[in-house]
Amino acid sequence: MSAPFTAVAIVGLGLIGSSIARAIRQSLPETRILGYDRNADVCARAEAIGLCDSYHSAFGAELAEAEMVILCVPVGAMAAAAEAMAPFLSTQAIISDVGSCKASVLTALRGALPNAIIVPAHPVAGTENSGPEAGFASLFKGRWCILTPDADADESACARVAGFWQALGANVETMDAAHHDLVLAVTSHLPHLIAYTIVGTASDLEGVTQSEVIKYSAGGFRDFTRIAASDPVMWRDVFLSNKDAVLEMLQRFSEDLSALQRAIRWDKGDELEELFTRTRTIRRSIIEQGQDDAKPDFGREHQ
Ligand code: NAP
Repeated sequence: MSAPFTAVAIVGLGLIGSSIARAIRQSLPETRILGYDRNADVCARAEAIGLCDSYHSAFGAELAEAEMVILCVPVGAMAAAAEAMAPFLSTQAIISDVGSCKASVLTALRGALPNAIIVPAHPVAGTENSGPEAGFASLFKGRWCILTPDADADESACARVAGFWQALGANVETMDAAHHDLVLAVTSHLPHLIAYTIVGTASDLEGVTQSEVIKYSAGGFRDFTRIAASDPVMWRDVFLSNKDAVLEMLQRFSEDLSALQRAIRWDKGDELEELFTRTRTIRRSIIEQGQDDAKPDFGREHQ
């Protein structure tokens, strides 16, 4: 299969941007990569690793070469980045992004680039690390990438973007932006909010020292700390941008938590057991569908 794009611009050379660059190098070696980051130091670090073919801390005439531009900045920064690139874009360029919420980003991109061909995307893959050194080429392999184009979006542009992500090893699904935001509110945004809360609560507890929290973390706490170590700016923007769906899921979660509280208070062991049996099935389905490793305890070494 020939490469879907001759030249791709990646704006934001952090975890996701640098992973895309590495995956292009591995799977689409003939594609030229233009790398952009507002921070000249990040550009220099990316150059030292050899991520891209050229590096730019500001947009210029060279951007016209890009057949697709992928915005890999926090969702709250998408509009300003799109406005800054507007004067230099080719009219044929496809504008895409990797933002974790889609309705607000689509509105931001439409506002900044009213005549552009826009095909938003969200690779559902990541880690808690940030920056150009944190990326890796296999990040998207076997993971889902969700495209959320408008109903009247250019079909051939959508097919090219889908082909690009498939070439990087991802499975591609297309859905409406609002539906994406609801699904991700429960599968990603709420879990992050819960992890941030638990880790925050533990660090605020009087009567339990910080060293005890760390010493006995293998009881379950440490698995939340991985999620709670995620990038603060990225997650601030996700919650503010997907406010309605997150608040709706949080309301459902609070009601379910109250029901559990009542079951514990009134010794309803059968209710607890029924729920815990259902949740165990979910974990098994995730493994069966290849979305996580089957090894117990996330494959950690035990002596
Ligand atoms: P990251 O490693 O922190 O990289 C973010 C990049 O955006 C950096 O290059 C940063 O530049 C740049 N940036 C930050 N604020 C900016 C601003 N106001 N204007 C212009 N550039 C700015 O983050 P990431 O994890 O790659 O996340 C990037 C995007 O991917 C986000 O939209 C996020 O929602 C989405 N996403 C993340 C994950 C995940 O698990 N991490 C998964 C899927 C999608 P500096 O170096 O100057 O700060």
